[in-house]
Amino acid sequence: MALVMDEYGRPFIILKEQEQKSRLRGLDAQKANISAGKAVARILRTSLGPKGMDKMLQSPDGDVIISNDGATILEQMDVDNQIAKLMVELSRSQDYEIGDGTTGVVVMAGALLEQAEKLLERGIHPIRIAEGYEMASRIAVEHLEHIAHKFEFGVNNFEPLVQTCMTTLSSKIVNRCKRVLAEIAVKAVMAVADFERKDVNLDLIKVEGKVGGKLEDTELIYGIVIDKDMSHPQMPKQIEDAKIAILTCPFEPPKPKTKHKVDIDTVEKFQTIRLQEQKYFDDMVQKCKDVGATLVICQWGFDDEANHLLMHRNLPAVRWVGGVELELIAIATGGRIVPRFQELSPEKLGRAGLVQEKSFGTTKDRMIYIEQCANSRAVTIFIRGGNKMMIEETKRSLHDALCVARNLIRNNSIVYGGGSAEISCSIAVEAASDNYRGVEQYAIRAFADALDSIPMALAENSGLPPIETLSAVKSQQIKENNPCCGIDCNDVGTNNMSEQNVFETLIGKQQQILLATQVVKLILKIDDVITPAVY
Ligand code: ADP
Ligand code: MG
Repeated sequence: MALVMDEYGRPFIILKEQEQKSRLRGLDAQKANISAGKAVARILRTSLGPKGMDKMLQSPDGDVIISNDGATILEQMDVDNQIAKLMVELSRSQDYEIGDGTTGVVVMAGALLEQAEKLLERGIHPIRIAEGYEMASRIAVEHLEHIAHKFEFGVNNFEPLVQTCMTTLSSKIVNRCKRVLAEIAVKAVMAVADFERKDVNLDLIKVEGKVGGKLEDTELIYGIVIDKDMSHPQMPKQIEDAKIAILTCPFEPPKPKTKHKVDIDTVEKFQTIRLQEQKYFDDMVQKCKDVGATLVICQWGFDDEANHLLMHRNLPAVRWVGGVELELIAIATGGRIVPRFQELSPEKLGRAGLVQEKSFGTTKDRMIYIEQCANSRAVTIFIRGGNKMMIEETKRSLHDALCVARNLIRNNSIVYGGGSAEISCSIAVEAASDNYRGVEQYAIRAFADALDSIPMALAENSGLPPIETLSAVKSQQIKENNPCCGIDCNDVGTNNMSEQNVFETLIGKQQQILLATQVVKLILKIDDVITPAVY
């Protein structure tokens, strides 16, 4: 696109390769954008809440994913429209920052767009709508601080944390085992948390999965589990008080026989070179033994001859261990990664109380457990489950739960879930709208209506009549002045979310409202869409 002037100084726009571009301007552009955004939100709407539906997605190469997580669903969907991509980004940013609430944020943005469409039809300028939304979002975020509670928990009393993680997990496929998984997630986060800095490095929590067993068999291991086995089946399966050499250098003799051109014309010469090779490796093994290593974990492989020698010299080894895993092992065992063999020294060895190889099922599935490490600040959650899809979804759900626990350690404020916080904000925003004289007050009221769409979706997904349920809960909140009343999705018999123990983090909820508002403002401000035409 270029802006040029004619000879009288009147500006006009030249679209490059005019006929190949399509262009939407003004209200048409906004309406088209809004309907694209709404379409994405509509897909996720049915996934919200404890009774939300799951989506099954097939990737181009035939892999099937079943998920309830908003960010995952959108990530896997192949959206083409630019605005729809913005919604995908929205969900992703919630995932990056908070981890949970990825469905809710998109549903919220969809509702805001829907309300904006009505206002546009009534002739209100998009900028005024955007400004009104901005004001309303500030009111809502502030109101959330008023209704938030501080949550007291300690290293020994982490039950409240478990309850919050259970709320997150209750909307996932794994909700059958939510208690077990929530406890695991909380214990894992507690193990790696830095309470002084109020931060948690989730990289220290490794999540492994193996098909087989039951979901209930999922366990937390204070140490590292790697999906590898001892390089030789006759090596010991259990090493106590292990001293581990962590190598990222080749652990095998040089191979002049195959790698270089050597003239070997006699049997004797061949024998010499073979013996030399063997001696070279023997020296390497001896060096490991001299520094005191009882286990070698190696990023590279070694061939069968070397493997045999290792077995012979009684030095157990694990080969082909990935870089990330090596780092975790180094952190957990307090060892140092050795990049050059010459640098191996006793103080660089990692220490673990127990290293063992465990086997699973009837197939030759083995894994190595490195436990009782010198520095226990790296843990592994080892998931079992009926099939791969289940394990993958459990990993994603656990990610949400881990994030929620981390967020609570960073900031221990919570609000009540089940749509109660949204209803309370909606009432507050509605009340505040009267203080604004300008056209913005329509937008602020529209914002209040959009907030209602979250409890409405929750009710709808649980098979309750949406409008009746919402209005009943809303009037109850006003009558009792109680911001804990929400939608009783599971038909427990009470609307009080504090009795039901349905909590969400304050920062998560605030982030949802802020992000959704930002994206909607962004979409409303676009009044010219130039795209390559479709052929
Ligand atoms: P998201 O990806 O946005 O976290 P979820 O599918 O996890 O979406 O649904 C979260 C919503 O479900 C929140 O509004 C939460 O308050 C609500 N919710 C979760 N568990 C319950 C419950 N037991 N009763 C009522 N509402 C619940
Ligand atoms: Mg959730």
